[in-house]
Amino acid sequence: TSGSRAEIGVTGLAVMGRNLARNLARHGHSVAVHNRTEAKTKDLVEEFGNEGTFVPAYSAEEFVASLERPRRLVIMVKAGGPTDAVIDEFAPLLEPGDMIVDGGNAHFEDTRRREAALRDKGIHFVGTGISGGEEGALNGPSIMPGGSKESWEALGPLLTDIAAKVDGEPCCSHIGADGAGHFVKMVHNGIEYSDMQLIAEAYDLLRKGLGKSTDEIAEIFQGWNEGRLDSYLIEITVEVLRQRDAATGKPLVDVVEDQAEQKGTGRWTVQTALDLGIPVTGIAEAVFARSLSGSAALREKTAGVLPGPAASELTGDEAASFADDIEQALYASKIVAYAQGFNEIQAGAAEYDWDIDLGAVAKLWRGGCIIRARFLNRISDAYVQNPGLETLLTDDYFRDAVAAAQDAWRRVVATAARLGIPAPGFSSALAYYDGLRAQRLPAALVQGQRDFFGAHTYRRTDKAGSYHTLWSGDR
Ligand code: NAP
Repeated sequence: TSGSRAEIGVTGLAVMGRNLARNLARHGHSVAVHNRTEAKTKDLVEEFGNEGTFVPAYSAEEFVASLERPRRLVIMVKAGGPTDAVIDEFAPLLEPGDMIVDGGNAHFEDTRRREAALRDKGIHFVGTGISGGEEGALNGPSIMPGGSKESWEALGPLLTDIAAKVDGEPCCSHIGADGAGHFVKMVHNGIEYSDMQLIAEAYDLLRKGLGKSTDEIAEIFQGWNEGRLDSYLIEITVEVLRQRDAATGKPLVDVVEDQAEQKGTGRWTVQTALDLGIPVTGIAEAVFARSLSGSAALREKTAGVLPGPAASELTGDEAASFADDIEQALYASKIVAYAQGFNEIQAGAAEYDWDIDLGAVAKLWRGGCIIRARFLNRISDAYVQNPGLETLLTDDYFRDAVAAAQDAWRRVVATAARLGIPAPGFSSALAYYDGLRAQRLPAALVQGQRDFFGAHTYRRTDKAGSYHTLWSGDR
C-alpha cells in the first residue's frame, strides 16, 4: 500500500550499501532495500530488521514501486560498468523529478555523462562521494553530493541526518552541479594517498634512520596524535604498528608484504591534475611510491644490489633531535599536500563551472572521512577568511607554521638523502614550496631551449609580445 512506501531506497547491499541502509533506518527513515543477488537483501532484513523499517524488494519493479514520490534511490554497487548496468535497469521505471544517488566511487567524468543523459529524461542524477569506509557508512560518513540544487533540497535533510557530525555540524553539504561531488571525493582520496605516504616515510626514517622499534615508533606517533597532527590516519597507524602477528609473534607490519596496492582514485587525481595543469606533486609521488613498491620483479633485481651510502643510521646530537624534526617535516609536507589538493579543486571548479565553497569542503572533511583531522579546522578558517586564497601556503597561519618548520624539514630531506632512505613525499613537497618561493625559476632557460630547437617563441620580462631568436649554433 502507498502508506508503507519507503522514504528512500538503497540498491547494492555489499558492505557499503548495507551499512548505509542501516544508518538510514537507525535514524528513523524507512528504507527500501534491493540487491541483484536476493540473498543479501534477505540477510539484511533478517539480521538487522529490528534496527528500523526496511522494505525488502526482490525485483527492480518492486523496488521502484515501494518508494515515495519523487523517488530517492541510492545506488551502492561496484563503480564503472555495474553502475551503468544498474542505471539502465532502473531509469526506464522512473519518472521526471525522481532522483538517483550514485554513492559509489565513480569517476567524475562518468558522473557528468550520466547526469546529462538522465537530465534529458527529467531525472536528477546525484553523483555523491561517500568516505569513511564501512564503519563510516554505518555510523556517519562524510558525504559529498553533486547534482542539481533541486535534488539537494529533497536529499539534503536525509543525507545530513546520517552524516558524521563535528561540533554539531554535519559532514555533508552540496558541493556543486553534476560531477562536483565525485570530483571532490576523488581529490579527498588523492590527499589520503599523500597523507599515508608521508606517515609511511616518517615511520621509515624513524625505523631505519634512528633504529627505533615498531613499539617505540607507535609511542612517538601516539604523542604526535595528541598535538597538531591529531588525525584518524595517525591514530590507526599507532594501532597497525602495535599489532603483533599471532603466528610468529613479530610486529604484523614486518610480516606484511611491502607492496602497496591501489584501486585507482589516487591515479585519477593525478591524471586529472595533469590535464588541468595543476602540480599535485605530493599526490603523484604517493601514487608512484605505491607503483615502485609493487614493481616486484624490478626490485628483486635491484634490492641489495645497487650501491648506497656508507652510513645508514644517525648518531649523536643529530639522532637526538631527529624525531622532532620529522614531526615538523610531516606537518609542513602535509600542508603542501592539502594546498595542492585544494588547488586542484579550484581548477576543477573553474574548468567545469562548479561553484565550490572550499571552506565548506574542509569543514565536511573534519569528520567521517579517512583524512579527518584537527588541522582541517585551520583550512576551513583560511578559506572563510579569504575565499579567493590562491594557495593555503600564503594563509597567515600556514605560512607561519611552515616558516617555523622549514629548518627541520630541510634537515630531514637532507638527512634522508644522505642516509639513502627514500622520502619522495617530504622532498617533493619541499621542492614545490621552494618553487613557489623562487623569484626566478630556471624555466627561462627551458624557454630558451624550446625556442632554439622548435622556434616555440618566448615572452620577455621587459616588454609584451612573443619573441623568437635566431640562435646561432656555432658560437
Ligand atoms: P563492491 O564490492 O564495490 O560492489 C558489490 C556490490 O555491487 C554488490 O551489491 C553487487 O551485487 C553489486 N553489483 C556488482 N555488479 C553488479 C551488476 N552488474 N548489477 C547489479 N549489481 C551489481 O561493494 P562495496 O565495497 O560495498 O562498495 C560499493 C561502492 O561504494 C563502490 O562503488 C565503492 O567504490 C564505493 N566505496 C567503497 C568504500 C569502501 O570502503 N568499501 C568506501 C567508499 C566508497 P551482488 O551481491 O549481486 O554481487
